[in-house]
Amino acid sequence: MSQNNQPSRYDDSNIFAKMLNGDIPYHKVYEDDKTLAFMDIMPQAKGHVLVIPKQKAIDLADLEPEYAAAVLMTAKKVMQAQRQVFEREGIIQMQLNGSQAGQTVFHYHVHLIPSSIHELGRHAVTQADQGELADLAQQLAAVIAG
Ligand code: AMP
Repeated sequence: MSQNNQPSRYDDSNIFAKMLNGDIPYHKVYEDDKTLAFMDIMPQAKGHVLVIPKQKAIDLADLEPEYAAAVLMTAKKVMQAQRQVFEREGIIQMQLNGSQAGQTVFHYHVHLIPSSIHELGRHAVTQADQGELADLAQQLAAVIAG
């Protein structure tokens, strides 16, 4: 570990690695062979989703091109579903590189947040109701599945 708990190399015990291993529960929105999308447990707005690659990448510097492409394709699906479910056009796409930028989970992930940059809630502070997250995940997954 370096300063601010940022690992110098990929740590297999990070929370998103545990999700990919099936070791902890999450509210799934979408999955394919290269990516997983799920509800953020401490959303910065209602409907906040995270998209992660099935690659051991800490941040953008490590992300392989095929996984970068796959994450963006999944992000597109999720964003289109958010637009439909939340009946709003504005979706923030955000991604933090390094603890200095505020990154707290060291497995690369893209945030998709139905909000405006002028209204965004605080980062990773307030835990959402599990029932509501389950319901939102189901709605988004249904739209993506068509
Ligand atoms: P970042 O600070 O960019 O690394 O974002 C990490 C995100 O992961 C935050 O928005 C957290 O709310 C979210 N998060 C942390 N633990 C979990 C979890 N168990 N399930 C879903 N999201 C999580």
